[in-house]
Amino acid sequence: MGSVEEHHDIVIVGGGICGLATALALHRKGIRSLVLEKYNTIRATGAAIGVFINAWRALDQLGVGAELRTKAVLVPENQDVWRNKNATRLNSCRKEELRCLKRNDLIETLYNNLPVNSVRFGCQIVAVGTDPLTSFPILYTHDGIIIKAKVLIGCDGSNSIISKSLGLKPPKSLTNCVIRGLTNYPNGHNIGNYFLRHLEGCMIFGRIPIDNNLVHWFVDWPYPDKEGPKDPKFIIELAIRQIKDYPAEMIEMVKNSDPASLTFTRIRYQTPWHLVLGNFCRGTITVAGDAMHVMGPFLGQGGGAALEDAVVLARSLAEMMPMGYFEANASDEELRKRTETALKNYVKERKLRVLRLAMQSVLVGLLMSSPSKVKRLVSLVLLILFFGGPALSHTQFDCGHL
Ligand SMILES: Cc1cc2nc3c(=O)[nH]c(=O)nc-3n(C[C@H](O)[C@H](O)[C@H](O)COP(=O)(O)OP(=O)(O)OC[C@H]3O[C@@H](n4cnc5c(N)ncnc54)[C@H](O)[C@@H]3O)c2cc1C
Repeated sequence: MGSVEEHHDIVIVGGGICGLATALALHRKGIRSLVLEKYNTIRATGAAIGVFINAWRALDQLGVGAELRTKAVLVPENQDVWRNKNATRLNSCRKEELRCLKRNDLIETLYNNLPVNSVRFGCQIVAVGTDPLTSFPILYTHDGIIIKAKVLIGCDGSNSIISKSLGLKPPKSLTNCVIRGLTNYPNGHNIGNYFLRHLEGCMIFGRIPIDNNLVHWFVDWPYPDKEGPKDPKFIIELAIRQIKDYPAEMIEMVKNSDPASLTFTRIRYQTPWHLVLGNFCRGTITVAGDAMHVMGPFLGQGGGAALEDAVVLARSLAEMMPMGYFEANASDEELRKRTETALKNYVKERKLRVLRLAMQSVLVGLLMSSPSKVKRLVSLVLLILFFGGPALSHTQFDCGHL
């Protein structure tokens, strides 16, 4: 039996935050796309996500900001506690509009705003090639389907097969791992309305309210073993071991987590020089989100940057291929030229922004959790020189109108 062959205009690989946001941004511009997701349902790993004003601006452009704001309280302050030094710093983050969203809420809202059949689940891409006749991309699925696309957007995360096909280097791994979870307090929590971080040596323990009942917590520390636990019982045990000297109510919070929310993740990041040297588009193929710029969680900006990518990419494509363009049967040659220009504009617009975020994330990561005093000092100096200090200035970025 011969292979099934399909033809589509714009194909997005990956139905995470970036893939769904990109499909929604294109939809808002009147451009149809197909998202291919390897899992069988929408799936949001990682419990919750801190969303700052730059990401809210992007969500507003996607038309889902107002709906999502009802799902998480505003967190007007953050408090850092250095346990070794017995020092505490309380900062206002009112102008950064920080809220912590359940990942499920974000993913479901993006998905629910898409037209039906925009996402094909259970469709894993296993190889990428080029059509020798047209030079457009060809995708091969795990179950033998051949998908020919005019435009291919890789939103397939940090282990991206599309990035590999562009010749991009795989991200690096830190020795640090993060356990994240959600704890529900049926009668309301009384943890206060602020983002709390305890910093001790190379470890960070944090918690942030999502609403009046639900709290997101995480613990980040060096964990050299290659594999981490998968069973929620062992994940909780491991997390509790890291915070055994912490106040009883914090240990209780971790003990009472929703087992389904728990994840153990090794931190991966793309080096800033990779972002300078990397070629993020070739022909009519490009990448966005973690597939382009996975970064450590120290700024809480990976997801926000993915949402910004979605807005800028859809805007660039729509500028070159306005509504109805694909249906108007333009020649392949013209379509290729226009797409290449759009993708080059997108990469040009995003490069400096993601480079700055990646650098700031590496430096803040070193400042917060490096065991070396020298590295911490150098990081602080560089942060002051290049970014005006370790503050939240990066959140004031505006990706502009869709
Ligand atoms: C510990 C931690 C904390 C974080 N905290 C924050 C935070 O507070 N705020 C913030 O903004 N960001 C945060 N981030 C970053 C954020 O989670 C990511 O940047 C964001 O999820 C990236 O979204 P994405 O869609 O690019 O990739 P992903 O979420 O990885 O989605 C990729 C999708 O592609 C699918 N896929 C992969 N390969 C294939 C294939 N071959 N075929 C088909 N489908 C495929 C996957 O199943 C997945 O659905 C954090 C990250 C970590 C690790």
